[in-house]
Amino acid sequence: MFGLYLHIPYCAAKCRYCDFYSAACRGGVPDAYVDALCREMDRFSPCGSTPLRPDTLYFGGGTPSLLTPAQTARLIDAAGPVPGAEITLEANPETVSPQTLAAYRQAGVNRISFGVQSASDVQLARLGRRHTAAQSRLALQWAREAGFENVSGDVMLALPGYTLDEMNATLELLAEGGCTHISSYLLKIEPNTVFGRKPPENLPDDDAAADFYLAAVERLAQLGYAQYEISNFARPGFEGRHNRNYWECGDYLGLGPTAHSCMGGRRFYTPAGTAAFCRTPADYTDDGTCTAEDFVMLQLRLTSGLSLARLRREWGVEWDAKKRAFAARLCQNGLARLEGDVFSLTPRGMLVQNSILVELL
Ligand code: SF4
Repeated sequence: MFGLYLHIPYCAAKCRYCDFYSAACRGGVPDAYVDALCREMDRFSPCGSTPLRPDTLYFGGGTPSLLTPAQTARLIDAAGPVPGAEITLEANPETVSPQTLAAYRQAGVNRISFGVQSASDVQLARLGRRHTAAQSRLALQWAREAGFENVSGDVMLALPGYTLDEMNATLELLAEGGCTHISSYLLKIEPNTVFGRKPPENLPDDDAAADFYLAAVERLAQLGYAQYEISNFARPGFEGRHNRNYWECGDYLGLGPTAHSCMGGRRFYTPAGTAAFCRTPADYTDDGTCTAEDFVMLQLRLTSGLSLARLRREWGVEWDAKKRAFAARLCQNGLARLEGDVFSLTPRGMLVQNSILVELL
């Protein structure tokens, strides 16, 4: 598996909680930025300007739906994905129309991921989102009408003044809107954001946030979405292939400022700086090699878990008696499972994954 990630570092305005690398921009994505992405694809091309032929192509951001369909088509053509590749575009509900969605589909995008976040307009305004719940509903409907059979929706949990009613209304909005995949995240207050400088009132504490997460896992299962990763849930056959490749330690190339890559076990990234990226060939920064610790960490994000046989075979790492005793204690406490040689975390275990990893690594 080879995944290609194209970062689109532009947004109409910055949301109050967001620390992704993106800047507010007027108008759409400059053609100079699309030129720069094509230039970098050429640089990684195995031979001249032969396409990279990824198995998955992911437009992330930022707000990739600020790309015009023509810009999107140009980037897809330049990448030359293999037949049957998964091609995902992240979109904000207020940026799309029936026409643009049909044109993205025509350009080759076959999976669209909407940042819906909440069904409460008061909450959306508080977060600095520029859409309403009604716009999210319409965008989901238009996506289906445009022929998207694979539609994902993002939801944020444990928001200020959060209630189970808000959570359930949001999950139902996504399910009724035909989402085949749902990503759910707990709000995290990041330092370099508006919320970081002035946290909102009525934030749920850690225990309440954990309860919302567990309630979401349960409600999503009732709605027919099986959990396959800490934050990701899908109807059968609709797991995200691009992100799954990250967690399976596959090769991926990320292009654009702050995008990270791992190719043949070597990791590297592009430093921040959109203007510099447009002007001159990117200067990739070495980020070390992928280690057995990374493998354990990534595999334990997945409900399919960590195969201890694979850990031994591919990384030469054998769990000693101390680690096995720790794993057994986690199983007794309902935080993990050990089935054959596969060790996996339960949703409760996933909530304390970091502490578990400290012991295991
Ligand atoms: S639209 Fe997305 S990337 Fe842009 S500021 Fe909001 S959360 Fe961040």
